Amino acid sequence: MRDGKCPKCGGSKIATTRFVVYLGAGLSGPTMDLFVCADCKLCEQYMVGSVEERVSVLDSWKWVQREEGGPFRR
Ligand SMILES: [Zn+2]
Repeated sequence: MRDGKCPKCGGSKIATTRFVVYLGAGLSGPTMDLFVCADCKLCEQYMVGSVEERVSVLDSWKWVQREEGGPFRR
């Protein structure tokens, strides 16, 4: 979608804006680039900056652990 083409409807009229996510008082939210298709309104958003840095610096961020073998393992 960042290349100017909608992956859902194939439209080429894509709008973009940059915004900061508000996570609450005292929490540093990420800056996002938002892409919206003018035809079907599909939205995609991408975080600006390093994800690795957020996870290592901020307690509120963590890596998603993949469940392999079901919930009753361990
Ligand atoms: Zn579209």
